[in-house]
Amino acid sequence: MATAINSFMQQQLLARRERLQDALTENRHPDHLHALLDEVDRALSRMQDGSYGLCETCHDTIESDRLICDPLVRFCLDHLSRQERNALERDLELAARVQKGLLPPQRLERHGWSICYHYEPAQLVSGDYCDVVDAEDSGLYFMVGDVSGKGVAASMLMAHLHAMFRTLIPMGLSLKRVLEHASRVFAESVLPNQYATLVCGRGFADGRIEISNAGHPAPLLARDGAVRPVEGSSLPVGMFGKEEFSLVELSLRPGERLILYSDGVSEAMDASSSEYGVERLCRLVGENQSAGAMDLLGLCRCDLDTFRGQAQRHDDITLFILSRQ
Ligand SMILES: [Zn+2]
Repeated sequence: MATAINSFMQQQLLARRERLQDALTENRHPDHLHALLDEVDRALSRMQDGSYGLCETCHDTIESDRLICDPLVRFCLDHLSRQERNALERDLELAARVQKGLLPPQRLERHGWSICYHYEPAQLVSGDYCDVVDAEDSGLYFMVGDVSGKGVAASMLMAHLHAMFRTLIPMGLSLKRVLEHASRVFAESVLPNQYATLVCGRGFADGRIEISNAGHPAPLLARDGAVRPVEGSSLPVGMFGKEEFSLVELSLRPGERLILYSDGVSEAMDASSSEYGVERLCRLVGENQSAGAMDLLGLCRCDLDTFRGQAQRHDDITLFILSRQ
C-alpha cells in the first residue's frame, strides 16, 4: 500500500486506540471496548508484519476507500460474510439517500437563468459533485465537479465539497477567493492522492457569467448554432494548498446556454471500448439549439444510453445545462 495511506491509517488506528483507552478508564461497556481494543492492536501488528490491508482469505489488496472508512476491515469485498455484506448494502443505501438529499432541485429558474441536470451514480453513490446556490445580488452559483476515486470514500468527499461551498458562498467573497479557500481547506483535510476537478461559475441577472475551471472538462458554450469549449483551466482543487484560479468572463444572450459535464459522459464506453467523446456531445448540442433545455437533456441521455448499450457502467455521470432565458 502507498506509504502515505499507510501512515494515515496508522494515525487513524492510534487515535482510535487512544479513544478506546480513554473510554475504558471511564468504564463504559468494558467487554465491547476490550474486544475493539484487541482488534485495533491486531491491526497495528499486521501493519508491523506487512500484512495490513491484505484480505485474509485471498491475500489480495483490500479496497483502499473501504480501509479509509474503516481501518479494521480485514476482508476484500469479494470475501465478506453474508452478514457483513447485508450490513454494507444497508449502509450504502443510506449513504445514497443522504447524497440524494444534497442535490439541488432538478429544475430551477432564477435571475433569468434556468438550470436542469442529470446525475447518475455508476453504483449506489457518486463521486460527482453538482450544486446550485442562489446568492441573490451576488449571483447564482453553480458547481459541477468530480472527486478522485470512487465509491463511498468519493461520495464522502463530494459531501465535504458541498458543505464547503455552501459555507463559503454566503461570505460574499470573489469567485477566485471562494476557490482558493475551498482548495486550501480541501487539501488540508484529505489524503495526498485525493482532489477534485470542478467548474465553479456564477451568473448575474444581466446575463454575465464568471467561470473558473479547476482541471475539469471545459464547459461547452452553445451560441449561434455553434458549440465551442470555454477554454482556461487551472489545477484541480486540493492538489496543492496554494493554488490560484483563473477566471473567464462571458455574457449570454437569451437562448444561449452552457453545458457542463463530468468525464463519465465524455469517457463513457460502448461494448467495444470506444469512447463516447466530447465531439459527439458537441454535435448533439449544436443540432438541437432550438430545443428546450429539458428536451436537450433528454436527447443527450438517450444518445449516451444508446451508445453505451449493454456495456458496464464504470463512472458516475453528471450532465448540467444552464440556459439564458
Ligand atoms: Zn479477498
